[in-house]
Amino acid sequence: MRLRNPTLQRRVLTQRTLRIKMNLPYSQNAGLYIHIPFCVKKCAYCDFYSVTDLALKPRFLKALLREMELVSHEGLCFDTLYIGGGTPSVYDSNEISQIVTATFRNFDLLPQSEITLEVNPGTATKDQLKGYRAAGINRLNIGVQSFQQKNLDFLGRIHTVNEAHAAIQDANHAGFKNIGLDFIYGLPEQSKPDWLQDLERALEYDPTHLSCYMLTYENGTPLHRRLQAGQVQALADDNVRALFETTIDFLEDHKYFQYEISNFAKIGEDKETHVSRHNLKYWTLVPYIGLGPSAHSFIEQQRYWNVSSVGPYTEAIESDNLPVSEKEVLSLEQQMIETIYLGLRMTIGIDSVGFKEKFGINFFEKFKEIISDLEKRNYIKVIKNHCALTQQGRAFLDSITSMFITQDEPTTEVEI
Ligand code: SF4
Repeated sequence: MRLRNPTLQRRVLTQRTLRIKMNLPYSQNAGLYIHIPFCVKKCAYCDFYSVTDLALKPRFLKALLREMELVSHEGLCFDTLYIGGGTPSVYDSNEISQIVTATFRNFDLLPQSEITLEVNPGTATKDQLKGYRAAGINRLNIGVQSFQQKNLDFLGRIHTVNEAHAAIQDANHAGFKNIGLDFIYGLPEQSKPDWLQDLERALEYDPTHLSCYMLTYENGTPLHRRLQAGQVQALADDNVRALFETTIDFLEDHKYFQYEISNFAKIGEDKETHVSRHNLKYWTLVPYIGLGPSAHSFIEQQRYWNVSSVGPYTEAIESDNLPVSEKEVLSLEQQMIETIYLGLRMTIGIDSVGFKEKFGINFFEKFKEIISDLEKRNYIKVIKNHCALTQQGRAFLDSITSMFITQDEPTTEVEI
């Protein structure tokens, strides 16, 4: 494949080389997710389900432990546990220990499982972090978001820059070797040097994983209301795209492999990558069970999710009922759409062999014209059995996915 832009060509070749040398840790074992529905304060941009009434914590914890006993998971073997939220670090290490112990008691969770805890700066003390490690947590995901106070204030985060640094340093001192950092970029008026400053500071800590999410203005959030009222102005699409490309260039130059549109894993000396094994399950449609309010589960082509409210959640469980809100069975067509959408999010792309096995359809044959058109426009590349977005294409993920589904033209909107 020939690319017009020499920078892009170098990048695509680099990624191709990396892919050949490294194996992503795919596993058919299931993943277990626990949603802790509490935050100290709601951030201005957040539409995840959480409440700020921390007085509900003890009752919720009891209900969560009971939900583990009620949930049916026969025949499933798990190799990841992800405790997310919300802000799981509002619970101390004794409480997190109770949760981890209960998962081993109630689920077939393998001894070498990846066990992640999300931690927000400003909520976890040094001792707490040490306690989390003793409780069996072997991976931390720290919600730094930015190392610049003006950005933290804009996002409505509770923590300061100093607290962000302290959280990472304390996690290192507590002995965590697998630490991921979350960032948000694309803030109004954010410049390339501004964003690079955050990335450079992040790399000083040598994290194993970086998640870099573009700021989105979700309906119903305070930030969206401010946007609607003209009080904030979103960064122009071209600037957002430039920041996206800057992220990839910078992190690849520093040996971080972009394995998913917003996620980068450090490449170790031995070519070992530190991808989030848990999140990989969502993108590869491996079964997962979700516990806690609003948590989703996916098993045998059935997706179901819990009620998004602590009150009804705890009441259901206290009456020995599952707090499931809704269920859907994915049709073959829905499964195909998800396989395409999730495959395109991954750097490795859609696996045509797996596609054929699953749907009995030759992917390259069925989408011949679309693929050829997108290849000419440098939005898609085909490498052996895989069809993946180029970096240029990744900025148009949603509209390119919809081309496969409806055969529409891609829009010019940036969608990262
Ligand atoms: S801490 Fe996380 S989950 Fe809680 S409000 Fe902020 S972004 Fe949302």
